[in-house]
Amino acid sequence: MGTIQCQNCGKRIIEKERICPHCGHQNDTKSETPEKNETSSMILGYIGASLMFLGVFLPAIELPLGKSMSYFNGGKGDGTFLILVAILAFYYVFRQSRRGMFMSGLTGVLLIGVDLINTTSKVADYKSKLAASSNFARLIGNVSVGYGFAVMSIGAVLVIIAALMIRKA
Ligand SMILES: [Zn+2]
Repeated sequence: MGTIQCQNCGKRIIEKERICPHCGHQNDTKSETPEKNETSSMILGYIGASLMFLGVFLPAIELPLGKSMSYFNGGKGDGTFLILVAILAFYYVFRQSRRGMFMSGLTGVLLIGVDLINTTSKVADYKSKLAASSNFARLIGNVSVGYGFAVMSIGAVLVIIAALMIRKA
């Protein structure tokens, strides 16, 4: 039978008896589980924030002739805003702020979602214009939504999941 230290008075007590016979303090013997949760929440949160950050510089729109436009270049300020959101997410993961992580992840999801809708409709517009134009333009004119959006979305969702993994204080 192992002993643990009373969280209140510091005396050794039997591990199974959570209530300290010396001071009456009710010790939390399940203290190892939240710590493990916090570690995986932190790792997941950092991965999520990193993906949000990196995704801003990946192709958001694939352009003809192997060119692409990133969210940072093409988003007209939204890419820069998402970088700020990602930095905030990093900070809140470090602070293990459930609310802060949740809010920054949610802001990311909403921002990325709105811009994905805009980008998709722009790409559709461009494609319908191409369809009406010459064969040559159609040949070189492949435009599509880039994988940067997928990376950013996964990052934002991971931050939200990481936030939900933290137990309410
Ligand atoms: Zn005690």
